[in-house]
Amino acid sequence: MISVAIDGPAGAGKSTLARQLARDLGYIYVDTGAMYRAVGLYALRAGADPADQAAVNALLPGIRLRLAVLDGEQHIYLNEEDVSGLIRTEQVGMAASAVGANPAVRAFLLDLQRDMARTGNILMDGRDIGTVILPDATVKIFLTASPEARARRRWLEYQAAGRPDSYEAVLADVKQRDEQDSGRAAAPLRRAADAVLLDTSAMNLAQSLAAMKQIIKERVGE
Ligand code: C5P
Repeated sequence: MISVAIDGPAGAGKSTLARQLARDLGYIYVDTGAMYRAVGLYALRAGADPADQAAVNALLPGIRLRLAVLDGEQHIYLNEEDVSGLIRTEQVGMAASAVGANPAVRAFLLDLQRDMARTGNILMDGRDIGTVILPDATVKIFLTASPEARARRRWLEYQAAGRPDSYEAVLADVKQRDEQDSGRAAAPLRRAADAVLLDTSAMNLAQSLAAMKQIIKERVGE
C-alpha cells in the first residue's frame, strides 16, 4: 500500500494540489485539516473557547467524525451533519489552529487518521503527517511558499468569491497561523528529515502539480 504525506503551512495550496493529485493517481484523499476544522466548529458552536484545553477536552466524547467521497468530492460529517462548507471560514480556521495545539485533540484524531491509511493507497495532507501520523510514508512532501505568495493566492480566492477581506488582513492571518502552527509544543509544523521540500512561490498550480507528480514518480516508480 502506498502512502503520500503532504505537509506545509496554511495557504501553500496543499488541499487543492492533494485533491487533484489523488484524483489523477486514483488514491484516497484524506484532508486532516478538515478534521481539525470540524472540531474547531464544534467548540465554537458549544460556546467554548477553542484555546481552552479543559473545555475542549470535555467536548471530545460528543464528537463523531466521518469522511466520505460524494461525486468525487470529499465531505466531512460532524455527528452525521455535513459541515464541509461551514468549516471553510477564517474563524473556523483559527479555531482549528487553536484546537490543533491541544494534545488530547491530536491524540483523538491520530487513530482515526492512521486507520484511514490502512484502507488503501492514500494521500494525506496536514501539518504532522510525515513527522507523526505516517512516519513510514512511502513519499513525503513538504509544500511551502512565501507568506506573501500564500496570502496573495488566498486573497485572490476571496476576491473571486466576492469577499471584502483586504490583502493586508489576509497576510496578517497567514502569519499569525504560521506562528501558531510552528510555535506550538504539540506536533509543531516542521519538515520531516526525509521529506522533499517543494517551494511553490514562483509556480502556478499546473507547475506545482507536475513537480509533485515527478517527486512521487521518483519514489514510487509509477
Ligand atoms: O489545512 P487547514 O488550513 O485546513 O488546517 C486548519 C488548521 O488545523 C491548521 O492551521 C492547523 O493548526 C491545524 N491542523 C493541524 N494538523 C493537521 C492539519 C491541520 O494541526 N494535520
